[in-house]
Amino acid sequence: MLLSDPVDVIPGVGPKTVAAFREKGIQSVEDLLLYLPRRHDDFSHIVDIRHISPGPVSIQAKINNITSRRGRRGMSITEAIASDDSDSVKLVWFNQPYRAASLKTDQQYFISGNYKLSYHHYAIINPSVEICSDVPLNSARIVSIYPESKNLSSSTIRRAVYRILPQAEAIVDPLPSYVAAGLGLMSYARAIATIHFPQTIDELNDAKLRLQFNEIFPMLLANALTTKELRAQHAFRIMFQPDLARKFVAKLPFQLTDDQRRVTWQIYQDMDADIPMNRLVEGDVGSGKTVVAVMAAVMSIAAGYKTAFMAPTELLAKQHSTTISRLLEPLGLIDSLILITGSMSAKDRRLAIDKANRMDNTFILGTHSLLTSGVDWSNLALLIIDEQHRFGVDQRRELQRQARHLPHFLSITATPIPRSLALTVFSDLKLSKLKTMPARRQPINTVLVAPTDFNRFLDKLRHEINSGRQAYIVGPHIRATDNNDKLAVETIFTELQRKMSPIPVGLIHGQMPADEQDRIMASFISRQLPILVSTTVIEVGVDVPNATLMAIFGPERFGLAQLHQLRGRVGRGEHESSCYLILSDSFEPLPRLRQFARIQDGFELSELDLHLRGPGAIYGKLQHGKGTSAILTLDDQNLLSKSRDGVDLFLKQGDNLLNYNQLSAMVSQAQQLTYLN
Ligand code: ADP
Ligand code: MG
Repeated sequence: MLLSDPVDVIPGVGPKTVAAFREKGIQSVEDLLLYLPRRHDDFSHIVDIRHISPGPVSIQAKINNITSRRGRRGMSITEAIASDDSDSVKLVWFNQPYRAASLKTDQQYFISGNYKLSYHHYAIINPSVEICSDVPLNSARIVSIYPESKNLSSSTIRRAVYRILPQAEAIVDPLPSYVAAGLGLMSYARAIATIHFPQTIDELNDAKLRLQFNEIFPMLLANALTTKELRAQHAFRIMFQPDLARKFVAKLPFQLTDDQRRVTWQIYQDMDADIPMNRLVEGDVGSGKTVVAVMAAVMSIAAGYKTAFMAPTELLAKQHSTTISRLLEPLGLIDSLILITGSMSAKDRRLAIDKANRMDNTFILGTHSLLTSGVDWSNLALLIIDEQHRFGVDQRRELQRQARHLPHFLSITATPIPRSLALTVFSDLKLSKLKTMPARRQPINTVLVAPTDFNRFLDKLRHEINSGRQAYIVGPHIRATDNNDKLAVETIFTELQRKMSPIPVGLIHGQMPADEQDRIMASFISRQLPILVSTTVIEVGVDVPNATLMAIFGPERFGLAQLHQLRGRVGRGEHESSCYLILSDSFEPLPRLRQFARIQDGFELSELDLHLRGPGAIYGKLQHGKGTSAILTLDDQNLLSKSRDGVDLFLKQGDNLLNYNQLSAMVSQAQQLTYLN
């Protein structure tokens, strides 16, 4: 068997399991080995029944008195008595009707499960049971618990992984072998095998340390390399002019918050140096990031340089152009502002580009299509990017190529990097936070809507519209994949048109022509259109204070950051606002969504996200394998110091990163973050 063989070749793995694996992205033997457990339960200590106490227990016993019956709501209940020399204990299985037939009464079993109160009696609930003579996989040992799905239980995974365990030896360490060896760490291949079937807790901890090391090392290395690269670059120095800053602030229609002042000052200090700035401004939706960016731009314009400002969508670029021209006007700088978009007429676009090339001190606003506009960037001193995480490409390096130098870089986002990650792994990142909100925003009431409550939700929606408010309805994708797909915005749109009639409903998504998108957006902004069904194209920046209801279909499909962005579209005006999460099926709402409903603060949500998914899942596919391990704990000082030593070791060796394909891919992923890309 080879690592690249499909999972079908594993003995005992049938078509059903193969399909369930595929759903989890597990195609090959290697994928399965890299599908890591979420946690481990220690059932390794076998105790006499006489000595068991509530909690996880393992016993070695015979089983008798096996009975099966139907309980309330058709639930099947199988019960039995397990006995050893010391005592007896009741076993109970819910909805596992096959149990009764599979158990034999004169057999010694390992039995592991949770001993607890159930319907007023103590019993071991849903225990794993294995014949003693076998090598136990599910009981009487440290047991791996995997991310499961409806058709994929941890015991199925364990059985399949056990069959291919010898193949783990062939797994290649993405890191240079001398690094881990030099630090006395377990080999990568052995760590993979061990994490599935550890013999002892110590061995398990060593394996975890090794796998976490592999996760952190590329990020720390990226951090170190970026810092080194930036120090070697030369940027245009933008002199700080206090009079200009004062004048700008004096002409503002509002008072800057203390946070805005502090962050602007940090930026001015960074730009007044010949090492390129590399700063990320983080602030929740509505925290006033735009004016901070404009203050940076004003200083660059005054110094005689170009500034480029990229927004993720044309819609936003145009919206920014309006607000920014209002800010520049009192300073007499409005002539510097140039908007370049893809939907402009060819003639207007040429005029705009000509002007950008003719003048030195310009503020050029557009989307990432600025990269292909043909503007001469040689005089570019400052690049500002709004909502960076929406772009796929490395604009900064592309502009560096065109400009033949590295501009100062300011990245603006409502999706913060979790503090713990920033402090430990990406310690060289320059972060600025806008925590205080200028105008007090309404807290947004977040509600989980079960499918059975859908009609009640429609009543709420109708009521909101009849009170003169507006609503966004968001779905995860555009077109239905099959007849049962209720999450496609086209389907949602048709259904709502029917159910909300005569209230008009509009539809907007990224595959529509830009002018139609503009037209629909304009009618929503002007309040003619009360309900707007859309994909996440409205995720960032759109500002309609009269919209007070956000409904998200299939919220399970969205990340926490995205949900938070979407929720931030409402609560912008004087009226109370709500966000409804329309759950797709009757499964229990994920704890993640419940937490989301409780937490309003974007910084807090980012920590939660890190905790739930791990940094690899948040920042691209840094992780080995396709499973989400989320096993990284950033408060482990031993891990952090080992990883730092590892990076030193690698850098001292003078080794070439490009010798290690997988590692260099992981490092460039992480560098997207350290370069704030
Ligand atoms: P975001 O951080 O989401 O990009 P914006 O920069 O668009 O937020 O600002 C949101 C709104 O708050 C804008 O209308 C802006 O003019 C306003 N604003 C920004 N700073 C202040 C302030 N210090 N006082 C009052 N209003 C402000
Ligand atoms: Mg913004």
